[in-house]
Amino acid sequence: MKTLKSSQIPPIFLTLCLLLPLLLSTGCSKKSQTSAPAVNAICIASDCDSNLVQRVASFARNELDSKISITSLTSRDISSYNRNPNKMVKSLSGKYTFTVMLLDNPKKLPDSDQVNNLAILSINMLKPSTNAVEALGRRIEKETMCQIGRMIGMEPCPIIFCAMFQAQDDADLDTKGRNFCPPCGAKAGELLKAKGLLNPEPIEK
Ligand SMILES: [Zn+2]
Repeated sequence: MKTLKSSQIPPIFLTLCLLLPLLLSTGCSKKSQTSAPAVNAICIASDCDSNLVQRVASFARNELDSKISITSLTSRDISSYNRNPNKMVKSLSGKYTFTVMLLDNPKKLPDSDQVNNLAILSINMLKPSTNAVEALGRRIEKETMCQIGRMIGMEPCPIIFCAMFQAQDDADLDTKGRNFCPPCGAKAGELLKAKGLLNPEPIEK
């Protein structure tokens, strides 16, 4: 499989493509934002069907054993987002350590230099042609895991059964894994631990 460059991203990932400089900049060396976020958690902020959001959040929470919170965005939030995406993105990115915005059909995107700890996925662009609910849920889980991975500092993975694999078309996206491969899983655990984002160990009584 070829190494992905931003210019090779297919149209389905336009939203991600536009945000790629922003996302990649989070990876390795870039300094974190100037002020510490108020909530040390990964937030999933969405205006989509709450069952879908719960499903994705539960999956990520279980897979990463990490602090994942949900923020529901109202139609009013989305109107204000579409008027001024930078404003909402800045406020959400200041509130949480990392944020994945799952937006039904964003009309605009923020400027790519606004934040380095937030990713946006367009659900509309991830919808399979069959409109199958299960296939859509899996696609969103895979891309949410991949975006969280990128934001915490992981690199793309060449193994297609890993969520960090960079899908280049719909077939790739439907084939790739929802979970991290063992090396990526270990790396994610280390990075999340270093950032204080793992759930606390249960206290034995
Ligand atoms: Zn991997």
